[in-house]
Amino acid sequence: TKKHKVTVIGSGNWGSTIAKIVAENTRAHPNLFEEEVQMWVFEEEVTLPEDSKYYDASNAGKPQKLTEVINTCHENVKYLPNIALPTNVIANSSVRDAAKDSSILIFNLPHQFIGRTSKQLEGHILPYARGISCIKGVEVAEDKVSLFSEWIGEGLGIYCGALSGANIANEVANEKWSETTIAYDPPTMDSRSPSRNPSPSDNVSASPNMEHKDVRGRSSVSLSGALKNIVALAAGFVEGKGWGDNAKAAVMRVGLLEMVKFGKEFFPETVRVETFTEESAGVADLITSCGSGRNFRCAKMAVERGVTVAEIEKTELNGQLLQGTSTAKDVNNFLKARGRDGEYQLFTAVLDILEGRKTVDDIPDLLARADDP
Ligand code: NAD
Ligand code: 13P
Repeated sequence: TKKHKVTVIGSGNWGSTIAKIVAENTRAHPNLFEEEVQMWVFEEEVTLPEDSKYYDASNAGKPQKLTEVINTCHENVKYLPNIALPTNVIANSSVRDAAKDSSILIFNLPHQFIGRTSKQLEGHILPYARGISCIKGVEVAEDKVSLFSEWIGEGLGIYCGALSGANIANEVANEKWSETTIAYDPPTMDSRSPSRNPSPSDNVSASPNMEHKDVRGRSSVSLSGALKNIVALAAGFVEGKGWGDNAKAAVMRVGLLEMVKFGKEFFPETVRVETFTEESAGVADLITSCGSGRNFRCAKMAVERGVTVAEIEKTELNGQLLQGTSTAKDVNNFLKARGRDGEYQLFTAVLDILEGRKTVDDIPDLLARADDP
């Protein structure tokens, strides 16, 4: 029988972590999957420092292609350093070639790049492929907000589910215990597809260290993952001021209310409030992101050093990217287009602080005006 070929589209901090888990699973389930997992890498050159265990004196200081380094060293030295990738993860700089003949496509890249990447795939994937989006962000076009799970699916003409949760990539990659939330409910398999759909009972959708819960409704899973990044910036702002845990908790409380309010207002047909309040993809992701996520850490550092968040992103993240800053902009543009600006005080305060119209000291006043929805 035919087996599923799996491709991971993206190879950043989370993309590489998911590729590791997927490759462990394909190896453990040879009856269902082809062992080799293709991982699309946005090609760039890296120079290994002298203290790298992969440093080769013979080509000292010469830049090398990241794909070649990954395929030789089995480590993504730039985006997930010090984590061994299974040897069946194959880095590929051509997204079309990586996705060719794949029946399962896992989308895992900063949301800023998904538009052009997915365009390149149009007409070049199996018509019966299935996708899952691990992306935390929203797509906004004028007065329309879409979630990447649905947007990718519509663009490519395939079903695309969503995975999101309290999942700091480095902790997951180090095999520390965690949970995640998966919304994946595809229509019946096409007869041309490999024999059967892998199901949770095959234990293939998570690693032994990652509990997963299946829920209905992709929109709440994707939406909470996107919106919590705005809240994490606010938590970083107040932490940077040294205002303590009570202030941070207040910001998180208002943030969660605005996340739910946004879901109910703009996705009334599909929203499941319990996903926000009960699942890993909701409240748990909010907590972990406001504890040690990159949006939180960069916002905190920006306040401490008196520089912009964009500057910290550039100097401190070694190429990793924040999702919260562009999501704050997109969400506020969308609210304005819908005539709903002024109704989401925290989301708007974050953008105003990022763009210098307000300061962190204004937060208590701005939130005092936030009506509990
Ligand atoms: P990352 O922040 O490590 O981003 C860097 C990636 O962007 C690299 O793979 C780089 O090659 C790529 N890139 C740079 N320029 C590009 C371009 N022009 N076109 C295409 N790609 C380009 O990425 P990540 O952490 O893997 O994030 C992917 C998604 O996963 C995001 O939506 C994020 O919110 C989500 N997520 C991240 C974590 C985490 O802890 N890192 C956890 C859960 C979810
Ligand atoms: P950051 O992108 O802010 O690091 O958030 C990581 C995350 O989504 C943890 O679940």
